[in-house]
Order: sequence, then C-alpha cells, then structure tokens
Amino acid sequence: NRRFLLQRRPHGTPQRDDFHLETGAVPTAPQGGMVVRNHFISLDPAQRGWMDDAPSYMPPIALGDAVRATTVGTVHESRNPDFAVGDWVLGLNAIEDYSVVTPGGFTSKIDVSIVDSPSRYLSAVGAVGLTAYFGLTDAASPRAGETLLVTGAAGAVGSMVGQIGKILGLRVIGIAGGAEKCRRLVQDYGFDMAIDYKDAHGAKPVDALSAEIAAAAPQGVDILFENVGGDVMDAVLMNLALHARVVLCGLISEYNAPEKIGIRNLWQVIVKQATIKGFLIAGYVPRFAEGGAAVAQWIGEGRLRVDEDIQHGLENAYDAFMRLFTGANTGKLVLAVE
Ligand code: NDP
Repeated sequence: NRRFLLQRRPHGTPQRDDFHLETGAVPTAPQGGMVVRNHFISLDPAQRGWMDDAPSYMPPIALGDAVRATTVGTVHESRNPDFAVGDWVLGLNAIEDYSVVTPGGFTSKIDVSIVDSPSRYLSAVGAVGLTAYFGLTDAASPRAGETLLVTGAAGAVGSMVGQIGKILGLRVIGIAGGAEKCRRLVQDYGFDMAIDYKDAHGAKPVDALSAEIAAAAPQGVDILFENVGGDVMDAVLMNLALHARVVLCGLISEYNAPEKIGIRNLWQVIVKQATIKGFLIAGYVPRFAEGGAAVAQWIGEGRLRVDEDIQHGLENAYDAFMRLFTGANTGKLVLAVE
C-alpha cells in the first residue's frame, strides 16, 4: 500500500520534499468499517488549503498523514453490512492505494453503469459539476440576457460554468491563461468571448486587462464567477454592472502565496451596489441529487462537454498535483492509480 504523506507544511509553492511516498502493508477493515481500493483520485486546488495550518471548513491535514482526497474505488474488504466487496464507492479518503473507512465515514455507493468512466463521479457528476451548477444557478441568480464573466474559465469548474451560462441564455465571457485555452473556450465550450490574462511577459497589468474586459462587456458584467482572485479579479471589479453579483468560488492565484494578496478594487462593489457571495459546495449536500440529475441530463443531450485530465500512477502525485498551479491541466485533474 503506497501512501502520499504530507511530511512538511508547504511555505508558498509546494516542494517535492514536502511529501513522502511511503510503502506499507494493505490495511485491514476495522469493526463496522471497510477498506477501499482507490482507482481514481481527485486532485483539487482545495487540497493546497488543507495543507496549511489555518482555520477552514475542515481541519488541516495532520503532518505524517496521507494527503486527504476524494476518491472513487471498489470495496476491498467489508465489515459493514451495507457494503459488499466489489461495490463501487465515492468517499473522502486520501492519496493512497487503499483507504480505511471507519464506521460513519463519508462514503457512498455509486452507479458506474450510467457513466462512461467511474472518474465522472469526480468531475461531471461530482463536486466539480455540482459546484458549477449550484454556483451559477443558485448563488448567482442569473437572468437570461445578462453578461456572465468566468475566471479560471478553461478549468474544470470554469468550463462547466460557462457552458451552463449559455444553456441559461447568458452572454458568456471567459478569462484564461494562453491562446490555446482561449481558443478552446470559444470553439470547444461555446463561450461568446475569451480573454487571455497573460501575454509574452506573464500576467497582464490590471489596467490593461480591465480595458480588454471593458471592450468585451461594454454594458458591464452582471455576474462574476470568480475562481482566481488577485489581479484578475481586480480587473473585473472595475467593470461590474449596476447590482452585479459576484460568486466567490475560489482564489487560486493566492493559494501558493506566502502572504495573502487581497483585492484592491473592492470599492467598486459599493459604487455598483453589487453583492459578493462566498460559495462552498459542502453547503448544498441536501440538493446533490437534483444538481447531479440536471448536469447528467445536459450531458446526455450533448449540451455540456466535460473534459478530464487523467494523470497516471500514484508515484506521480506531486507532479500531477502541480499541474493545477502551472495551468497545465486540460480539464478536471484526476490521478488514476495503477
Ligand atoms: P482548474 O481545473 O480550474 O485548474 C486550476 C486552474 O487555475 C489552472 O488550470 C490555471 O488555469 C488556473 N490558475 C492556476 N494558478 C493561477 C494563477 N496564479 N492565476 C490565475 N489562474 C491560475 O481547477 P478546479 O476547476 O478544480 O478549481 C477552480 C477553482 O474553483 C479553484 O479556485 C477552486 O478552489 C475552486 N473550487 C471551489 C469549490 C467551492 O465549493 N467553493 C469547489 C471546487 C472548486 P490558467 O491556465 O487559465 O491560468
């Protein structure tokens, strides 16, 4: 059993030796619990936050523990009458071959016969798809004809938010890094416009980016779906429409910053009488079935495209995880255990 342990809290960008791949015996199931063989492991920006010793919606990963992760796998040993060996399950486990699930631990059976790959429970019909669905349809109160701007637009959440925006009749602008991602926003995901926040020198200055957003959204941005924060968000804030809604879903640009970056154009929220709402998918658990059904229907109708970036091998966990922060990932980042 290989386990990807957090052995030192990252200071800024995670380093390879902040982690250690330990090899040990396959664990045995505790009374009332089970052991799950992980097949697909979700790699998420949120894991970077769990590595810090800071107050959050979950306790920090303890030093010496395997890095917490949502996984999809099969039951390897069961001492829980509700689960049989071989059942496919989704749960909050860790980056490891085998996870011990204690009684009461968060694990649910999944129906893999209705998806083309079990990894879909980490992307399309998993937390990513539900975040896009509820973050836009519920938290943003969209009305057809409005202008939606999505940051981190070519990523797992962002690409789905933009497509759902089109389904709802919104005009959709995406901001992403690089010409290829901007091409995909328009051609693969059907966004109306794409803006590259980078140029040959790196990230564009706030004023330059703000001017491009103004040209793309002359009437202003009614809904900002924010995944990035920092300069990108500051540039969008200068272009809000009156009574705009900002859904604060993520701030990935500062997850690796040793000091938080913060926002300088917050005053525009007053000027435009805008609303900022913090969004956390964990708050929508009672409505997961509803969101999953809606997303699955749009996928079935061919109206929603969900890409996955599958990396292979537990031994490559560090390099795979870092793709989120270099922008190398092309869709929902998943580690396939081999
Ligand atoms: P993505 O697939 O979007 O991958 C992360 C992307 O972020 C990269 O591809 C990169 O795209 C971009 N990025 C990385 N570093 C920077 C930076 N310094 N500045 C600007 N962009 C950067 O990941 P997810 O879809 O899984 O997550 C997207 C966001 O949604 C994250 O902020 C995450 O924390 C948040 N989230 C929040 C949830 C909630 O419940 N609140 C649930 C799930 C996700 P590019 O090449 O364009 O720079």
